Amino acid sequence: MRRSLYREYRPQTFDELVGQAHVARTLKNAVETGTVAHAYVFAGPRGTGKTSTARILAKALNCTGTPDAPRTQPTAHPCGICEQCRAIAESMSLDVIEMDAASNRSIDDIRDLRDRVAYAPVEGRFKVYIIDEVHMLTREAFNALLKTLEEPPGNVVFVLATTEPHKVPETILSRCQRFDFRRPQIHDIVRLLARIVESENERPDEDRGGPPIEIQEAALLEIARHSQGGFRDAIGTLEKLASYSEGVIRPGDVLEALGVTQTDLLFEVTDICMDRQTGEALRFVQRLANEGVDYPQFIRDLIRHLRQVFLLQHLEEAADDDAALRVLGQTVELDDELTRRLLPQARQMHPRELVRMIETFGQAQRDIKDGLDPRLQLELALVKITRPQVEASAAALEERLRRLEASLGPTRHQREAAHVGPAAGPAAQAAGPAAQAAAARAAVAGTAAPPQTADEAPQTADEAAQKAPAVMQPDASPPLTIDRVKRAWELVLQHVQTVNVGLYASLRDARPSALAGDRVTVTMPSDFALRRAQEGANVDVLATAFAATLGRPLQAEFVLGESRDEARGPATAPPETPLDYTETIKLTKQMLDAEELDEP
Ligand SMILES: [Zn+2]
Repeated sequence: MRRSLYREYRPQTFDELVGQAHVARTLKNAVETGTVAHAYVFAGPRGTGKTSTARILAKALNCTGTPDAPRTQPTAHPCGICEQCRAIAESMSLDVIEMDAASNRSIDDIRDLRDRVAYAPVEGRFKVYIIDEVHMLTREAFNALLKTLEEPPGNVVFVLATTEPHKVPETILSRCQRFDFRRPQIHDIVRLLARIVESENERPDEDRGGPPIEIQEAALLEIARHSQGGFRDAIGTLEKLASYSEGVIRPGDVLEALGVTQTDLLFEVTDICMDRQTGEALRFVQRLANEGVDYPQFIRDLIRHLRQVFLLQHLEEAADDDAALRVLGQTVELDDELTRRLLPQARQMHPRELVRMIETFGQAQRDIKDGLDPRLQLELALVKITRPQVEASAAALEERLRRLEASLGPTRHQREAAHVGPAAGPAAQAAGPAAQAAAARAAVAGTAAPPQTADEAPQTADEAAQKAPAVMQPDASPPLTIDRVKRAWELVLQHVQTVNVGLYASLRDARPSALAGDRVTVTMPSDFALRRAQEGANVDVLATAFAATLGRPLQAEFVLGESRDEARGPATAPPETPLDYTETIKLTKQMLDAEELDEP
């Protein structure tokens, strides 16, 4: 059996920390100048090296050096072989106390810790308390911890590690020096994985616990791409593959192990959408079904793919600048090779078309979360995208029904009666001039869309956006409704994410719930998220994101939601959605002359 590669290849010195140069530099400097703080907060995503760094700090403080180079003071370069260093690396040191706040979160645990803090270090110079996931502590435990931080003994250092610093009380944060651990870049992870494979393969077989690891570089890249910027996940995937794969590990093996969609499929379905091949799209879904692909996962991966295309369009003008590309790579997990492959799609696709695709798949994703059939939602989304006239008609129909209901009152009988007419005839005719105008507009937009050569393609997204209004009739654009805002929400969030990650984090689980003029009500999942969203210029950032996505800078008003279910609205016949799901499907199917595939 293989040993844990993550444990084995944990960084042991500040210099081995990958992707956290700013943290390593500052800590080394503090150790060397004797200005180590009493308490640190290490904040950042999981698997980015927070507790490893805490241990390195502990070693730096307590290292006694080698016989020929003894250390009587803390050192920025712990030797790694003295008793102190070894004990810390193996979690055996009596002076380094690691505590997981997820399982020791009560006041008694912290009281116990406080009592022990009073004693001098057993063997080393410093006692180091590492509290992992510190945000999990109870309020009482935080208060007890605060007392300790207020009167820290001279030879104690606290490291509070957390993936959710916003849940740590301000009173605690203000007494700590804070470091934010960044997600490492893709190529950092690839380099680290390659180094691990090399070191593993240099070992004797019996030492390794298995045959040498044979893995293609492209497979390493695939692992890195899907590790969400966490070393631990990346190394964990490598370990899993090394244990279970036979022969050379290829990119396909990685995707299979992770259960993610083959990149080729994402490119293919995007091409199908761009070419508006409805039949091909539905056959594609059938193929996914035959291959046992998980639809929600597929949609998630597809949205990620489209998001990368989208961001690439917007960043292309800055793409001659390497630094900008690196920033891009970090935010969307893009690497050079993927960028090269994505560029043709980014150049061919009309930005509006792309936005509509992301909106549509985002809606499908939400509908699936709300319990609707995944396959049908995927098919519906693909049909809407490949036949924009269908969606335009449906939207017009919906609008007409809404007005009808507003004047008649929403009885079940009337709704059903209203459906019979439109559903019977050809869509555009039944839906009236509004739909015809919308369909015509869609057709115009369609012809104006993807030019086939790179030369003709809009050079930048901005240029394209400037060209677009000449084609689109402003008066023909659909009125802004809360439904449209909801559909665009995913995209608004992605815009926010590129500007302000903190705000994105607090909005991630929020939902727009009502619209009045230019004011949109956003239902927040927690009081904390609500306060966070209201801070500083956040409302303006959100308004800009709305403007970029919907063309109007909506002002957000945040309210606290009772529960996530409530944000979805009442379960029975909500007046704002006159067409329920089955009716919409029925209607859409009747409007289509596409072949229908058998459903379970
Ligand atoms: Zn040492």
